[in-house]
Amino acid sequence: MTTVERVELAYNNVYFVSDGSSLVVIDTGPDYRGAREAISDALRGRTPDIVVATHGHLDHAGLGKWWQERGCAVLLGRDDMPQTMGQSDRDIDLMVAYLEHIGAPEAIKAEAIAAMEARRRWASEMRTSKAYIDARDGRWPTALRYEPFEPLRTIAEPTSLACGLTALPSPGHTPGNLVVIQADEGRLFSGDQLLPEITPTPAIQFHAGARFASLPRFLESLRTLRAELPGNAHCFPGHGEPFANVDEVIRANLEQAEQRSARLIEELRQDGAITLYELAERMYPRALRRRFWQIVATIQGQLDVLEEAGQASYAEGRWSI
Ligand SMILES: [Zn+2]
Repeated sequence: MTTVERVELAYNNVYFVSDGSSLVVIDTGPDYRGAREAISDALRGRTPDIVVATHGHLDHAGLGKWWQERGCAVLLGRDDMPQTMGQSDRDIDLMVAYLEHIGAPEAIKAEAIAAMEARRRWASEMRTSKAYIDARDGRWPTALRYEPFEPLRTIAEPTSLACGLTALPSPGHTPGNLVVIQADEGRLFSGDQLLPEITPTPAIQFHAGARFASLPRFLESLRTLRAELPGNAHCFPGHGEPFANVDEVIRANLEQAEQRSARLIEELRQDGAITLYELAERMYPRALRRRFWQIVATIQGQLDVLEEAGQASYAEGRWSI
């Protein structure tokens, strides 16, 4: 018998799973004023056997350094290793090449680059500014801090932990994304991979210098989880309220992806060959400017799925079926 405690930290959940002698912590928690004290209070003097960061984003791995300084090893998926806050020159170069690859017009490209550079300036400022550090109130993401750290353990294979828990590589939300399952008790600790009432849109992201095809990996991971867990499993997400019937939620996510694929095939049927940007303009004419990256990532994800299934192909900047 194991117990689960949910510790709410701003918009994030951190979970303590205990069997009375061992303690596993899932997600490090975000780093803002008061977060460390809140965790220390919840620990009541206990020391975890291990702290699992489901992925490298700042609100899930933000306190990684703090835990390790207290002698608790943090476990992270191997392919999330290089994630740090903000964007390096190399990330920006990759994004610029990507914008060309999808056929974005010059003005749109310039706007996107300016936004990325502003974000990078903000990220470097937040590491050093005292005013910023003093004001951190937990708002996401502007008031969170992320000190770089080297996780003491990384994995790329399913790995047994204490308390009957298994850390399972579950790529999708990020390349090295992990979920933690407790198959016997029908529990899934999903991080951002499965959230209540939200279908996550995997972002445009790069790993080892190449674009990471988030959506096909995400859908694969959901299918794997469905096979690993009992149908009535309970989900303990990284944000929001825990929920029941994981199987049904996964099925709804997979169905929605299939509907989107079908719609995209219809769009591709209308033209000989089309750039991703032209598709985006046609499908979301009013929202494209405002929600540029979200729309681009959604369409790119579906195109990746169709391409891997042999239902669409890409040549010289254009997509066709
Ligand atoms: Zn995340």
